[in-house]
Amino acid sequence: ADQKEILIFERRESGVRSYCRRFDCVLDTAEGSVVRDVSGREYLDFVAGAGSLNYGHNDPDMRAALIAHLEHGGMSHSLDLSSTAKSAFLTAFESLLLLPRGFDYRVQFTGPTGANAVEAALKLARKVTGRSNVIAFTNGFHGMSQGALAATGNRHHRIGPQMPLPGVTRMPYDGYQGEGVDTADLLARMLCDPSSGLDAPAAILLETVQGEGGLNVASPGWLARIAELARSSGALLVVDDVQAGCGRTGTFFSFEPFGIVPDLVVLSKSISGYGLPMALLLIRPEHDVWLPGEHNGTFRGNVHAFVTATVALTKFWADSGFAGDVARRGELLARRLAGVANVVPGATVKGRGMMRGVDVGSGALAASITRRCFVEGLMLETSGPHGEVVKVLAPLTTPDDMLNDGLDILLDAARDVTA
Ligand code: PMP
Repeated sequence: ADQKEILIFERRESGVRSYCRRFDCVLDTAEGSVVRDVSGREYLDFVAGAGSLNYGHNDPDMRAALIAHLEHGGMSHSLDLSSTAKSAFLTAFESLLLLPRGFDYRVQFTGPTGANAVEAALKLARKVTGRSNVIAFTNGFHGMSQGALAATGNRHHRIGPQMPLPGVTRMPYDGYQGEGVDTADLLARMLCDPSSGLDAPAAILLETVQGEGGLNVASPGWLARIAELARSSGALLVVDDVQAGCGRTGTFFSFEPFGIVPDLVVLSKSISGYGLPMALLLIRPEHDVWLPGEHNGTFRGNVHAFVTATVALTKFWADSGFAGDVARRGELLARRLAGVANVVPGATVKGRGMMRGVDVGSGALAASITRRCFVEGLMLETSGPHGEVVKVLAPLTTPDDMLNDGLDILLDAARDVTA
């Protein structure tokens, strides 16, 4: 990259910038799973906008729809006014919900980020139940605004103890720190025991696969029992599908294979399909107790995002074969990552579908591996409480040969760094 351009970012942009410190290049163009910097150097992008580019960069169908919309003089912003673009999106989304899923949800357009939609979910759950406590889980990640941050597990995401946060009780996620503790059973007992001090919850908020928390996967049985606990305790079950949703685990919603129907579902990241900001809260109709304007915001309905999202959803029509491709590619990813884990003593493969990684045991080792990958032309990030998991979040559309190329780079890097 041109060093002069990098220096401008360093001088002018806030010290809070992060990804650009790890990936020291100035990007210019992108297509599919490949990004190019100003010098023309190509990188495989297995970060994919932290999961907001499930269909890769510049999907040709979405781009064509967007260009057609612009050339038609389509509006670009409409608050939450009705528009043809919003109507097309909601029609497509209704088909996705109903066929063959049989889900009945109202759609709330929140502010454009995942955190905005989590905030809306927590507020709504408190309004519906008249309770304030929220149960969230160790290693959960829900965003950086103060309500979302309160639900986020790892303390290192918070600035410090001076920040007062809304009340959240954190419980051990499924499989927390190894064998032996049945955390759903523990929660069930604490909910019935007045001496536990656990206030009746307004919501139980969880990810089915913890993206930032280290690719921890909840088991189907655990999820079913947590769903039942939410029901029996009068709390709303809120699934944060910001990262695990939109096909990442092989089905549109991450919870589809498990037969649970959350009261609220949070979607963002890849819902627009094109990396455009958009977030949704799905609300079971009986919980849609919002009064008009009671939870508003200027940017609720990015018209360009509606246009691309409408195209993105068509990938999930029952007969498209897209979900099957994701599932198959997820297996390829798992096999290749097992090979990577083999060359790092003690390493294990974690995750589900196309949301997988290798726990290499230390943040320092994971950082050296991803640094090495970047030098060789592959962008990867780390996750987990200590950054110990090398995380592969390649676009779901990455062709097998490209996926294999990236995993070859990762394997070599893991070998070199541990040699
Ligand atoms: N929930 C989950 C599960 C996430 O992974 C993230 C982002 N990593 C968020 C919420 C917050 O989304 P945003 O960064 O768009 O606010």
